[in-house]
Amino acid sequence: MEIYIDGSWYGKYDAKISVYDHGLLYGDGLFEGIRIYGGKIFKLKEHMDRLFEGAHVIRLDLGHSKEELMEIVEEAVKRNKKENGYIRLLATRGVGTMGISPFTCPKSSLVIIVEDIQLYPAELYDTGIPIVTAATRRLSGRIFDPRIKSLNYLNNVMAKMEAVDAGCLEAVMLNDEGYVCECTGDNIFIVKNGILMTPGSFHGMLEGITRNTIIDLAGETGFLFQERTMTRFDLYTADECFLTGSGAELIPVTAVDKREIGDGKPGPVTLALKEAFTKLIYS
Ligand code: PMP
Repeated sequence: MEIYIDGSWYGKYDAKISVYDHGLLYGDGLFEGIRIYGGKIFKLKEHMDRLFEGAHVIRLDLGHSKEELMEIVEEAVKRNKKENGYIRLLATRGVGTMGISPFTCPKSSLVIIVEDIQLYPAELYDTGIPIVTAATRRLSGRIFDPRIKSLNYLNNVMAKMEAVDAGCLEAVMLNDEGYVCECTGDNIFIVKNGILMTPGSFHGMLEGITRNTIIDLAGETGFLFQERTMTRFDLYTADECFLTGSGAELIPVTAVDKREIGDGKPGPVTLALKEAFTKLIYS
């Protein structure tokens, strides 16, 4: 395994960063999770666009152009000889002094890890998963823009704990107004009366690259689609529900807070989109 840190390559146990890195001290940094399918990096440009926009907003100089960074990511995949896997890219503020000011950090740090991934057991992609609503709310978009994929995931971590405590693998988080936002690491969709619906970024969720891919596929397949404000009532009474994310891909949801969704099995729109997605990623 070869891990990239700031221009050098290290083995798994030698890949280390400083305890003075503000990414560690303050969560001051960004990350991306990217998939490799059949030796190709899925939607690399879209991930780079999101990373560079976040970096621009938090005034983090990534030290590379988008093209250079894409080449480094491609080299990381080649060096690790991964046909199918997951790339974790971290951009931290770098080493500074103890204070919070990022101006004590002269140079940002870039870390790229290429790993295997198996987010959920394979059979759950056919049967679907139950989820619960977390009491922990998604950080409000009016406080911190959700388009910044920052290294601070504590709200999501706490919501994930609630999922696990409830015997589930994922939890849906509401926004500060009580509307459905997203899950701890995935976006959420429902289908009602043949219309595919998901919250919009104005509801405070991360605009997932998988989410946007599914919306494109829905358009190509001829499904009606709407970004919608939803409450838990909408989830409980949906005909179908599923989650999307680079790690999760598309996974059906069969129950929310013990309310069965539809007939408790993955529905036809979910299955059609899952099939279209699988076709696309290996195309
Ligand atoms: N929401 C959150 C909070 C996430 O962390 C992620 C990524 N794991 C997503 C949604 C899905 O985004 P993407 O499809 O770009 O991976």
